Amino acid sequence: MSLKQQYINGEWVTAISSETRDIINPFNQEVIATVPEGNDQDAKAAITAAREAFDNGEWSSTPATERGAIVRKIAELIERDKEELARLESLDTGKTVEESRGDMDDIAGVFRYYAELADKDGGELIDSPVPNGISRVVREPVGVCGQITPWNYPLLQASWKLAPALATGNTLIMKPSEITPLTTIKVFELIEEAGVPAGVANLVLGAGHTVGAELASNGDVDLISFTGGIVTGKKIMQAASVNVKKLALELGGKNPNIIFADADFDTAVDQALNGVFFHAGQICSAGTRLIIEESIHDKFVSALVERVKKFKLGSGFDEETQMGPLISADHLAKVEKYVETGVKEGATLAVGGRRPENPDLQKGFFYLPTIFTDCTTDMKIVQEEAFGPVITVEKFRTEEEAVKLANDSIYGLAGGVWTNDIAKAERCVAKMRMGTVWINEFNLYFPHAPWGGFKQSGIGRELGKLGIEEYTETKHIFQNLKPEPINWF
Ligand code: NAD
Repeated sequence: MSLKQQYINGEWVTAISSETRDIINPFNQEVIATVPEGNDQDAKAAITAAREAFDNGEWSSTPATERGAIVRKIAELIERDKEELARLESLDTGKTVEESRGDMDDIAGVFRYYAELADKDGGELIDSPVPNGISRVVREPVGVCGQITPWNYPLLQASWKLAPALATGNTLIMKPSEITPLTTIKVFELIEEAGVPAGVANLVLGAGHTVGAELASNGDVDLISFTGGIVTGKKIMQAASVNVKKLALELGGKNPNIIFADADFDTAVDQALNGVFFHAGQICSAGTRLIIEESIHDKFVSALVERVKKFKLGSGFDEETQMGPLISADHLAKVEKYVETGVKEGATLAVGGRRPENPDLQKGFFYLPTIFTDCTTDMKIVQEEAFGPVITVEKFRTEEEAVKLANDSIYGLAGGVWTNDIAKAERCVAKMRMGTVWINEFNLYFPHAPWGGFKQSGIGRELGKLGIEEYTETKHIFQNLKPEPINWF
Protein backbone atom coordinates (compact mmCIF):
# COMPACT_ATOMS: atom_id res chain seq x y z
CA MET A 1 0.00 0.00 0.00
CA SER A 2 1.58 3.24 -1.12
CA LEU A 3 0.85 6.84 -0.30
CA LYS A 4 -0.80 8.31 -3.38
CA GLN A 5 -0.55 11.95 -4.32
CA GLN A 6 -2.38 14.79 -5.99
CA TYR A 7 -1.32 16.03 -9.44
CA ILE A 8 -1.05 19.81 -9.70
CA ASN A 9 0.76 21.74 -12.44
CA GLY A 10 2.57 18.61 -13.61
CA GLU A 11 3.87 17.69 -10.12
CA TRP A 12 2.82 14.88 -7.75
CA VAL A 13 2.20 16.57 -4.42
CA THR A 14 0.89 15.86 -0.92
CA ALA A 15 -1.84 18.01 0.62
CA ILE A 16 -0.74 21.51 1.67
CA SER A 17 -2.07 20.72 5.16
CA SER A 18 -0.24 17.32 5.11
CA GLU A 19 -3.54 15.69 6.08
CA THR A 20 -4.38 12.24 4.74
CA ARG A 21 -7.40 9.97 4.40
CA ASP A 22 -7.57 6.18 4.55
CA ILE A 23 -9.37 4.45 1.72
CA ILE A 24 -11.44 1.46 2.88
CA ASN A 25 -12.21 -1.81 1.12
CA PRO A 26 -16.03 -2.14 1.41
CA PHE A 27 -15.76 -5.95 1.40
CA ASN A 28 -13.79 -6.20 4.67
CA GLN A 29 -13.17 -2.63 5.93
CA GLU A 30 -9.39 -2.99 5.52
CA VAL A 31 -7.39 0.11 4.65
CA ILE A 32 -6.25 -0.29 1.03
CA ALA A 33 -4.50 3.05 0.53
CA THR A 34 -3.81 6.36 2.20
CA VAL A 35 -4.27 9.47 0.09
CA PRO A 36 -3.72 13.19 0.64
CA GLU A 37 -6.74 15.04 1.98
CA GLY A 38 -6.63 18.29 0.03
CA ASN A 39 -8.75 21.28 0.95
CA ASP A 40 -9.67 24.66 -0.54
CA GLN A 41 -5.97 25.69 -0.57
CA ASP A 42 -5.02 22.72 -2.76
CA ALA A 43 -8.02 23.45 -4.98
CA LYS A 44 -6.91 27.10 -5.33
CA ALA A 45 -3.37 26.00 -6.32
CA ALA A 46 -4.80 23.68 -8.97
CA ILE A 47 -7.18 26.37 -10.26
CA THR A 48 -4.26 28.82 -10.58
CA ALA A 49 -2.28 26.20 -12.54
CA ALA A 50 -5.23 25.42 -14.81
CA ARG A 51 -5.97 29.14 -15.34
CA GLU A 52 -2.36 29.88 -16.31
CA ALA A 53 -2.22 26.84 -18.59
CA PHE A 54 -5.42 27.91 -20.32
CA ASP A 55 -4.45 31.57 -20.61
CA ASN A 56 -1.03 30.78 -22.10
CA GLY A 57 -2.96 29.06 -24.89
CA GLU A 58 -0.51 26.20 -25.45
CA TRP A 59 -3.09 23.43 -25.18
CA SER A 60 -6.04 25.19 -26.80
CA SER A 61 -3.88 26.18 -29.78
CA THR A 62 -2.31 22.73 -30.16
CA PRO A 63 -3.68 21.42 -33.48
CA ALA A 64 -6.82 19.40 -32.75
CA THR A 65 -5.35 16.36 -34.53
CA GLU A 66 -2.40 16.38 -32.09
CA ARG A 67 -4.72 16.77 -29.09
CA GLY A 68 -6.76 13.87 -30.46
CA ALA A 69 -3.59 11.74 -30.74
CA ILE A 70 -2.79 12.38 -27.06
CA VAL A 71 -6.34 11.49 -26.01
CA ARG A 72 -6.07 8.31 -28.13
CA LYS A 73 -2.79 7.51 -26.36
CA ILE A 74 -4.63 7.72 -23.01
CA ALA A 75 -7.11 5.13 -24.35
CA GLU A 76 -4.24 2.86 -25.38
CA LEU A 77 -2.59 3.16 -21.96
CA ILE A 78 -5.90 2.33 -20.25
CA GLU A 79 -6.14 -0.78 -22.46
CA ARG A 80 -2.52 -1.67 -21.61
CA ASP A 81 -3.21 -1.36 -17.86
CA LYS A 82 -6.79 -2.67 -18.00
CA GLU A 83 -6.36 -5.55 -15.58
CA GLU A 84 -4.57 -3.43 -12.97
CA LEU A 85 -7.21 -0.70 -13.26
CA ALA A 86 -10.09 -3.19 -13.09
CA ARG A 87 -8.73 -4.84 -9.95
CA LEU A 88 -8.12 -1.45 -8.32
CA GLU A 89 -11.68 -0.34 -9.13
CA SER A 90 -13.08 -3.53 -7.59
CA LEU A 91 -10.92 -3.17 -4.48
CA ASP A 92 -12.13 0.41 -4.03
CA THR A 93 -15.84 -0.04 -4.86
CA GLY A 94 -16.60 -3.69 -4.04
CA LYS A 95 -18.00 -4.39 -7.51
CA THR A 96 -17.02 -7.63 -9.26
CA VAL A 97 -13.81 -7.64 -11.28
CA GLU A 98 -15.81 -8.78 -14.29
CA GLU A 99 -17.95 -5.61 -14.00
CA SER A 100 -14.83 -3.48 -13.61
CA ARG A 101 -13.25 -5.05 -16.70
CA GLY A 102 -16.37 -4.03 -18.61
CA ASP A 103 -16.05 -0.51 -17.18
CA MET A 104 -12.42 -0.28 -18.37
CA ASP A 105 -13.43 -1.30 -21.91
CA ASP A 106 -16.13 1.38 -21.86
CA ILE A 107 -13.69 3.95 -20.48
CA ALA A 108 -11.09 3.29 -23.18
CA GLY A 109 -13.96 3.52 -25.69
CA VAL A 110 -14.93 6.98 -24.39
CA PHE A 111 -11.34 8.28 -24.77
CA ARG A 112 -11.16 6.76 -28.29
CA TYR A 113 -14.48 8.31 -29.29
CA TYR A 114 -13.48 11.84 -28.23
CA ALA A 115 -9.99 11.37 -29.74
CA GLU A 116 -11.74 10.75 -33.07
CA LEU A 117 -14.04 13.78 -32.69
CA ALA A 118 -11.20 16.17 -31.71
CA ASP A 119 -10.50 17.38 -35.27
CA LYS A 120 -13.87 16.74 -36.90
CA ASP A 121 -15.53 20.10 -36.29
CA GLY A 122 -14.04 22.67 -38.65
CA GLY A 123 -16.77 25.18 -37.92
CA GLU A 124 -19.54 26.27 -40.25
CA LEU A 125 -19.94 28.96 -42.90
CA ILE A 126 -23.32 30.65 -42.72
CA ASP A 127 -24.95 32.99 -45.17
CA SER A 128 -23.80 36.59 -44.96
CA PRO A 129 -26.70 39.07 -44.86
CA VAL A 130 -24.60 41.66 -46.73
CA PRO A 131 -22.49 41.41 -49.89
CA ASN A 132 -18.73 40.97 -49.41
CA GLY A 133 -19.13 39.43 -45.97
CA ILE A 134 -17.94 36.12 -44.58
CA SER A 135 -19.87 34.75 -41.66
CA ARG A 136 -18.60 31.69 -39.83
CA VAL A 137 -19.34 29.87 -36.62
CA VAL A 138 -16.56 28.16 -34.70
CA ARG A 139 -16.38 26.30 -31.41
CA GLU A 140 -13.74 27.15 -28.83
CA PRO A 141 -12.90 25.58 -25.45
CA VAL A 142 -14.84 26.96 -22.49
CA GLY A 143 -11.67 27.48 -20.44
CA VAL A 144 -10.96 26.15 -16.95
CA CYS A 145 -13.27 23.27 -16.03
CA GLY A 146 -13.98 21.98 -12.53
CA GLN A 147 -15.02 18.32 -12.63
CA ILE A 148 -16.57 16.48 -9.68
CA THR A 149 -17.40 12.77 -9.74
CA PRO A 150 -19.32 10.28 -7.52
CA TRP A 151 -18.22 6.96 -6.02
CA ASN A 152 -20.41 4.49 -7.88
CA TYR A 153 -18.61 4.46 -11.26
CA PRO A 154 -15.50 6.41 -10.29
CA LEU A 155 -13.39 6.11 -13.43
CA LEU A 156 -16.25 5.77 -15.90
CA GLN A 157 -17.80 9.03 -14.72
CA ALA A 158 -14.37 10.70 -14.78
CA SER A 159 -13.79 9.55 -18.38
CA TRP A 160 -17.06 11.15 -19.54
CA LYS A 161 -15.63 14.48 -18.35
CA LEU A 162 -11.87 14.17 -18.94
CA ALA A 163 -11.99 12.93 -22.55
CA PRO A 164 -14.22 15.65 -24.10
CA ALA A 165 -12.59 18.42 -22.03
CA LEU A 166 -9.09 17.45 -23.17
CA ALA A 167 -10.07 16.78 -26.78
CA THR A 168 -11.57 20.28 -27.10
CA GLY A 169 -8.58 22.14 -25.58
CA ASN A 170 -9.80 23.01 -22.09
CA THR A 171 -7.77 22.83 -18.91
CA LEU A 172 -9.27 21.13 -15.89
CA ILE A 173 -9.26 20.26 -12.23
CA MET A 174 -10.73 16.84 -11.40
CA LYS A 175 -12.04 16.04 -7.92
CA PRO A 176 -13.02 12.39 -7.56
CA SER A 177 -15.23 11.17 -4.74
CA GLU A 178 -13.15 11.18 -1.57
CA ILE A 179 -14.07 7.55 -0.89
CA THR A 180 -13.10 6.08 -4.29
CA PRO A 181 -10.18 8.07 -5.78
CA LEU A 182 -7.78 5.23 -6.62
CA THR A 183 -8.41 4.56 -10.33
CA THR A 184 -8.66 8.29 -11.05
CA ILE A 185 -5.20 8.77 -9.48
CA LYS A 186 -3.86 5.94 -11.67
CA VAL A 187 -5.38 7.49 -14.79
CA PHE A 188 -3.65 10.79 -14.05
CA GLU A 189 -0.37 8.85 -14.20
CA LEU A 190 -1.46 7.73 -17.67
CA ILE A 191 -2.49 11.28 -18.63
CA GLU A 192 1.03 12.39 -17.70
CA GLU A 193 2.58 9.47 -19.61
CA ALA A 194 0.48 10.28 -22.70
CA GLY A 195 2.07 13.74 -22.85
CA VAL A 196 -0.64 16.14 -21.66
CA PRO A 197 1.31 19.34 -20.80
CA ALA A 198 1.77 20.45 -17.17
CA GLY A 199 -1.11 22.46 -15.74
CA VAL A 200 -3.66 21.22 -18.29
CA ALA A 201 -5.08 18.35 -16.23
CA ASN A 202 -4.93 18.66 -12.44
CA LEU A 203 -6.11 16.28 -9.75
CA VAL A 204 -7.14 17.41 -6.27
CA LEU A 205 -8.26 14.90 -3.64
CA GLY A 206 -10.53 15.71 -0.73
CA ALA A 207 -14.04 16.32 0.49
CA GLY A 208 -16.94 17.94 -1.31
CA HIS A 209 -17.51 20.74 1.19
CA THR A 210 -13.86 21.86 0.86
CA VAL A 211 -12.34 21.01 -2.55
CA GLY A 212 -15.67 20.63 -4.37
CA ALA A 213 -17.14 23.82 -2.92
CA GLU A 214 -14.02 25.78 -3.94
CA LEU A 215 -14.24 24.51 -7.53
CA ALA A 216 -17.93 25.43 -7.69
CA SER A 217 -17.54 28.95 -6.28
CA ASN A 218 -14.10 30.08 -7.55
CA GLY A 219 -14.35 32.90 -10.10
CA ASP A 220 -11.42 31.51 -12.13
CA VAL A 221 -13.34 28.36 -12.99
CA ASP A 222 -15.44 28.80 -16.16
CA LEU A 223 -17.45 25.58 -16.09
CA ILE A 224 -18.41 23.12 -13.40
CA SER A 225 -19.33 19.61 -14.46
CA PHE A 226 -20.82 17.59 -11.63
CA THR A 227 -22.15 14.05 -11.32
CA GLY A 228 -23.70 13.12 -8.01
CA GLY A 229 -26.79 13.51 -5.88
CA ILE A 230 -29.56 16.07 -6.25
CA VAL A 231 -28.93 17.81 -2.91
CA THR A 232 -25.27 18.44 -3.79
CA GLY A 233 -26.29 19.44 -7.31
CA LYS A 234 -28.50 22.20 -5.94
CA LYS A 235 -25.67 23.49 -3.71
CA ILE A 236 -23.35 23.55 -6.72
CA MET A 237 -25.89 25.50 -8.78
CA GLN A 238 -26.04 28.13 -6.07
CA ALA A 239 -22.28 28.34 -5.65
CA ALA A 240 -21.75 28.51 -9.42
CA SER A 241 -23.96 31.57 -9.72
CA VAL A 242 -21.11 33.66 -8.28
CA ASN A 243 -19.55 34.12 -11.71
CA VAL A 244 -22.40 32.68 -13.82
CA LYS A 245 -20.36 29.56 -14.49
CA LYS A 246 -21.50 27.19 -17.17
CA LEU A 247 -23.12 24.22 -15.48
CA ALA A 248 -23.34 20.58 -16.42
CA LEU A 249 -25.24 18.48 -13.88
CA GLU A 250 -25.77 14.72 -14.00
CA LEU A 251 -27.93 14.01 -10.97
CA GLY A 252 -29.88 11.04 -9.74
CA GLY A 253 -32.70 8.95 -11.09
CA LYS A 254 -35.66 6.89 -9.91
CA ASN A 255 -36.10 5.04 -13.13
CA PRO A 256 -39.33 3.30 -14.19
CA ASN A 257 -39.31 0.00 -16.02
CA ILE A 258 -42.73 -0.81 -17.52
CA ILE A 259 -43.50 -4.48 -18.15
CA PHE A 260 -46.51 -5.22 -20.38
CA ALA A 261 -48.17 -8.64 -20.31
CA ASP A 262 -47.24 -9.26 -23.96
CA ALA A 263 -43.48 -8.92 -23.32
CA ASP A 264 -41.23 -11.96 -23.55
CA PHE A 265 -41.68 -13.06 -19.94
CA ASP A 266 -38.36 -14.75 -19.17
CA THR A 267 -36.27 -12.06 -20.86
CA ALA A 268 -38.16 -9.28 -19.09
CA VAL A 269 -37.65 -11.00 -15.69
CA ASP A 270 -33.96 -11.49 -16.36
CA GLN A 271 -33.38 -7.93 -17.56
CA ALA A 272 -35.52 -6.38 -14.82
CA LEU A 273 -33.14 -7.99 -12.31
CA ASN A 274 -30.06 -6.98 -14.26
CA GLY A 275 -31.39 -3.44 -14.57
CA VAL A 276 -31.33 -3.01 -10.79
CA PHE A 277 -28.99 -5.38 -9.01
CA PHE A 278 -25.88 -4.76 -11.06
CA HIS A 279 -23.34 -3.09 -8.71
CA ALA A 280 -25.83 -3.69 -5.87
CA GLY A 281 -28.25 -1.12 -7.27
CA GLN A 282 -25.77 1.73 -6.95
CA ILE A 283 -26.43 2.96 -10.47
CA CYS A 284 -28.05 6.28 -11.33
CA SER A 285 -30.04 4.61 -14.12
CA ALA A 286 -31.07 1.48 -12.16
CA GLY A 287 -34.64 0.50 -13.04
CA THR A 288 -35.76 0.53 -9.43
CA ARG A 289 -39.44 1.30 -10.11
CA LEU A 290 -40.97 -1.77 -11.73
CA ILE A 291 -44.39 -1.01 -13.18
CA ILE A 292 -46.06 -4.31 -14.06
CA GLU A 293 -49.31 -5.04 -15.91
CA GLU A 294 -51.83 -6.44 -13.43
CA SER A 295 -52.54 -9.67 -15.35
CA ILE A 296 -48.90 -10.87 -15.00
CA HIS A 297 -48.02 -9.07 -11.75
CA ASP A 298 -48.14 -12.04 -9.36
CA LYS A 299 -46.37 -14.45 -11.71
CA PHE A 300 -43.70 -11.85 -12.50
CA VAL A 301 -43.03 -11.03 -8.85
CA SER A 302 -42.79 -14.77 -7.97
CA ALA A 303 -40.25 -15.26 -10.76
CA LEU A 304 -38.20 -12.29 -9.54
CA VAL A 305 -38.24 -13.52 -5.95
CA GLU A 306 -37.18 -17.05 -6.92
CA ARG A 307 -34.19 -15.69 -8.85
CA VAL A 308 -33.23 -13.15 -6.18
CA LYS A 309 -33.07 -15.85 -3.48
CA LYS A 310 -30.29 -17.56 -5.46
CA PHE A 311 -28.07 -14.47 -5.86
CA LYS A 312 -24.47 -15.04 -4.76
CA LEU A 313 -23.18 -12.20 -2.63
CA GLY A 314 -19.46 -12.02 -1.92
CA SER A 315 -16.08 -10.59 -2.76
CA GLY A 316 -15.77 -8.92 -6.13
CA PHE A 317 -12.64 -11.02 -6.59
CA ASP A 318 -14.54 -14.31 -6.33
CA GLU A 319 -15.64 -15.44 -9.80
CA GLU A 320 -18.91 -16.84 -8.41
CA THR A 321 -19.99 -13.48 -6.95
CA GLN A 322 -22.93 -11.76 -8.62
CA MET A 323 -23.37 -8.88 -6.18
CA GLY A 324 -20.77 -7.18 -3.98
CA PRO A 325 -21.21 -4.95 -0.91
CA LEU A 326 -22.52 -1.41 -0.74
CA ILE A 327 -19.89 1.31 -0.74
CA SER A 328 -19.74 2.33 2.93
CA ALA A 329 -21.21 1.97 6.40
CA ASP A 330 -23.01 5.31 5.98
CA HIS A 331 -24.54 4.23 2.72
CA LEU A 332 -25.63 0.88 4.15
CA ALA A 333 -27.35 2.74 7.00
CA LYS A 334 -29.11 4.98 4.46
CA VAL A 335 -30.43 1.98 2.49
CA GLU A 336 -31.57 0.26 5.72
CA LYS A 337 -33.43 3.43 6.72
CA TYR A 338 -35.23 3.58 3.35
CA VAL A 339 -36.33 -0.05 3.71
CA GLU A 340 -37.63 0.66 7.25
CA THR A 341 -39.54 3.62 5.85
CA GLY A 342 -41.01 1.46 3.08
CA VAL A 343 -42.30 -1.04 5.64
CA LYS A 344 -43.80 1.79 7.75
CA GLU A 345 -45.46 3.25 4.66
CA GLY A 346 -47.30 -0.04 4.10
CA ALA A 347 -45.32 -1.60 1.25
CA THR A 348 -44.99 -5.42 1.43
CA LEU A 349 -41.54 -6.96 1.63
CA ALA A 350 -41.54 -9.80 -0.92
CA VAL A 351 -37.89 -10.67 -0.33
CA GLY A 352 -34.79 -9.28 1.40
CA GLY A 353 -35.14 -6.25 3.63
CA ARG A 354 -32.16 -7.03 5.83
CA ARG A 355 -28.43 -7.73 5.94
CA PRO A 356 -27.30 -11.27 5.04
CA GLU A 357 -26.60 -13.74 7.85
CA ASN A 358 -23.63 -15.43 6.14
CA PRO A 359 -20.72 -15.10 8.64
CA ASP A 360 -18.24 -14.55 5.76
CA LEU A 361 -20.01 -11.32 4.83
CA GLN A 362 -20.23 -9.67 8.24
CA LYS A 363 -17.23 -7.37 7.79
CA GLY A 364 -18.54 -6.06 4.48
CA PHE A 365 -21.32 -3.53 3.88
CA PHE A 366 -23.68 -6.14 2.42
CA TYR A 367 -27.44 -5.84 2.02
CA LEU A 368 -29.75 -8.48 0.60
CA PRO A 369 -31.51 -7.79 -2.70
CA THR A 370 -34.90 -6.45 -1.71
CA ILE A 371 -38.27 -6.29 -3.47
CA PHE A 372 -41.27 -4.33 -2.22
CA THR A 373 -44.75 -4.95 -3.64
CA ASP A 374 -48.04 -3.07 -3.04
CA CYS A 375 -46.25 0.22 -3.65
CA THR A 376 -47.97 3.49 -4.47
CA THR A 377 -46.52 6.69 -5.90
CA ASP A 378 -47.04 8.67 -2.70
CA MET A 379 -44.50 6.47 -0.85
CA LYS A 380 -41.04 7.82 -0.12
CA ILE A 381 -39.58 4.46 -1.13
CA VAL A 382 -41.09 4.98 -4.61
CA GLN A 383 -40.13 8.64 -4.96
CA GLU A 384 -36.63 8.87 -3.46
CA GLU A 385 -33.39 7.32 -4.62
CA ALA A 386 -32.32 4.63 -2.10
CA PHE A 387 -29.35 3.93 -4.39
CA GLY A 388 -29.12 0.33 -3.25
CA PRO A 389 -30.46 -3.13 -4.16
CA VAL A 390 -34.12 -2.21 -3.68
CA ILE A 391 -36.99 -2.58 -6.17
CA THR A 392 -40.48 -1.17 -5.72
CA VAL A 393 -43.33 -2.77 -7.69
CA GLU A 394 -46.45 -0.94 -8.83
CA LYS A 395 -49.35 -2.40 -10.86
CA PHE A 396 -51.20 -0.95 -13.84
CA ARG A 397 -54.21 -1.86 -15.98
CA THR A 398 -53.95 0.49 -18.99
CA GLU A 399 -51.17 1.91 -21.15
CA GLU A 400 -52.09 5.46 -20.04
CA GLU A 401 -51.85 4.45 -16.39
CA ALA A 402 -48.42 2.87 -16.95
CA VAL A 403 -47.04 6.05 -18.52
CA LYS A 404 -48.61 8.21 -15.81
CA LEU A 405 -46.94 6.13 -13.08
CA ALA A 406 -43.62 6.22 -14.95
CA ASN A 407 -43.70 10.02 -15.21
CA ASP A 408 -44.78 10.58 -11.61
CA SER A 409 -41.32 11.57 -10.36
CA ILE A 410 -39.16 14.64 -9.90
CA TYR A 411 -36.48 12.70 -11.79
CA GLY A 412 -36.25 12.04 -15.52
CA LEU A 413 -33.01 10.19 -16.15
CA ALA A 414 -33.97 6.93 -17.84
CA GLY A 415 -36.75 4.39 -18.27
CA GLY A 416 -37.72 1.20 -20.07
CA VAL A 417 -40.70 -0.46 -21.74
CA TRP A 418 -41.07 -4.20 -22.33
CA THR A 419 -43.63 -5.31 -24.94
CA ASN A 420 -43.83 -7.15 -28.25
CA ASP A 421 -46.27 -4.53 -29.57
CA ILE A 422 -43.93 -2.03 -31.21
CA ALA A 423 -46.63 0.59 -31.85
CA LYS A 424 -47.53 0.51 -28.15
CA ALA A 425 -43.85 0.82 -27.19
CA GLU A 426 -43.43 3.85 -29.44
CA ARG A 427 -46.58 5.49 -28.03
CA CYS A 428 -45.22 5.03 -24.50
CA VAL A 429 -41.66 6.27 -25.09
CA ALA A 430 -42.99 9.34 -26.90
CA LYS A 431 -44.73 10.33 -23.65
CA MET A 432 -42.01 9.29 -21.17
CA ARG A 433 -40.18 12.33 -19.78
CA MET A 434 -36.64 10.95 -19.55
CA GLY A 435 -33.28 11.56 -21.21
CA THR A 436 -32.90 7.91 -22.23
CA VAL A 437 -35.65 5.38 -22.92
CA TRP A 438 -35.10 1.75 -23.80
CA ILE A 439 -37.52 -0.56 -25.61
CA ASN A 440 -36.95 -4.22 -24.73
CA GLU A 441 -33.59 -3.29 -23.20
CA PHE A 442 -32.35 -1.73 -19.98
CA ASN A 443 -29.24 0.16 -18.90
CA LEU A 444 -27.45 0.08 -22.25
CA TYR A 445 -25.33 3.16 -22.90
CA PHE A 446 -22.42 3.77 -25.25
CA PRO A 447 -20.03 6.62 -26.07
CA HIS A 448 -21.84 7.98 -29.13
CA ALA A 449 -25.29 8.22 -27.50
CA PRO A 450 -25.99 11.31 -25.35
CA TRP A 451 -26.61 10.77 -21.65
CA GLY A 452 -28.39 13.07 -19.21
CA GLY A 453 -31.66 13.86 -17.55
CA PHE A 454 -34.98 15.64 -17.98
CA LYS A 455 -36.50 17.40 -14.95
CA GLN A 456 -34.39 17.31 -11.76
CA SER A 457 -32.06 14.61 -13.11
CA GLY A 458 -29.81 17.33 -14.41
CA ILE A 459 -28.78 19.94 -16.92
CA GLY A 460 -26.93 19.23 -20.16
CA ARG A 461 -25.71 16.02 -21.75
CA GLU A 462 -22.54 13.97 -21.56
CA LEU A 463 -21.32 11.50 -24.19
CA GLY A 464 -22.05 11.74 -27.91
CA LYS A 465 -21.53 14.89 -29.92
CA LEU A 466 -23.39 16.84 -27.23
CA GLY A 467 -20.48 16.01 -24.90
CA ILE A 468 -18.34 18.22 -27.15
CA GLU A 469 -20.90 21.04 -26.98
CA GLU A 470 -20.76 20.92 -23.20
CA TYR A 471 -17.06 21.78 -23.27
CA THR A 472 -17.13 24.41 -26.02
CA GLU A 473 -18.37 27.95 -26.50
CA THR A 474 -19.83 28.98 -29.84
CA LYS A 475 -18.29 32.01 -31.54
CA HIS A 476 -19.70 33.81 -34.56
CA ILE A 477 -17.04 35.61 -36.62
CA PHE A 478 -18.12 38.11 -39.25
CA GLN A 479 -15.64 39.66 -41.64
CA ASN A 480 -16.45 42.53 -43.98
CA LEU A 481 -14.21 42.21 -47.04
CA LYS A 482 -15.14 45.66 -48.38
CA PRO A 483 -15.73 48.03 -45.46
CA GLU A 484 -17.34 51.38 -46.38
CA PRO A 485 -18.63 54.33 -44.31
CA ILE A 486 -22.28 54.08 -43.23
CA ASN A 487 -22.73 57.89 -43.09
CA TRP A 488 -25.38 57.82 -40.34
CA PHE A 489 -23.59 60.11 -37.82
P1 NAD B 1 -22.71 13.14 -3.77
O1 NAD B 1 -23.56 14.21 -4.33
O2 NAD B 1 -22.72 12.90 -2.32
O3 NAD B 1 -21.17 13.39 -4.13
C1 NAD B 1 -20.74 13.52 -5.46
C2 NAD B 1 -19.46 14.34 -5.47
O4 NAD B 1 -19.76 15.67 -5.02
C3 NAD B 1 -18.35 13.82 -4.56
O5 NAD B 1 -17.11 13.97 -5.20
C4 NAD B 1 -18.46 14.75 -3.35
O6 NAD B 1 -17.25 14.89 -2.65
C5 NAD B 1 -18.85 16.05 -4.02
N1 NAD B 1 -19.51 17.04 -3.15
C6 NAD B 1 -20.21 16.81 -2.01
N2 NAD B 1 -20.64 17.98 -1.49
C7 NAD B 1 -20.20 18.96 -2.29
C8 NAD B 1 -20.32 20.39 -2.30
N3 NAD B 1 -20.98 21.03 -1.34
N4 NAD B 1 -19.76 21.09 -3.31
C9 NAD B 1 -19.09 20.46 -4.29
N5 NAD B 1 -18.93 19.11 -4.35
C10 NAD B 1 -19.49 18.37 -3.36
O7 NAD B 1 -23.06 11.81 -4.60
P2 NAD B 1 -22.50 10.35 -4.37
O8 NAD B 1 -23.16 9.82 -3.14
O9 NAD B 1 -21.02 10.34 -4.48
O10 NAD B 1 -23.05 9.59 -5.68
C11 NAD B 1 -24.32 9.05 -5.77
C12 NAD B 1 -25.23 9.97 -6.57
O11 NAD B 1 -24.68 10.20 -7.86
C13 NAD B 1 -26.58 9.36 -6.82
O12 NAD B 1 -27.57 10.33 -6.58
C14 NAD B 1 -26.54 8.98 -8.29
O13 NAD B 1 -27.79 8.92 -8.92
C15 NAD B 1 -25.70 10.07 -8.85
N6 NAD B 1 -25.13 9.67 -10.15
C16 NAD B 1 -25.66 10.20 -11.29
C17 NAD B 1 -25.17 9.80 -12.54
C18 NAD B 1 -25.74 10.34 -13.83
O14 NAD B 1 -25.18 10.04 -14.86
N7 NAD B 1 -26.81 11.10 -13.81
C19 NAD B 1 -24.12 8.89 -12.60
C20 NAD B 1 -23.60 8.38 -11.42
C21 NAD B 1 -24.12 8.78 -10.19
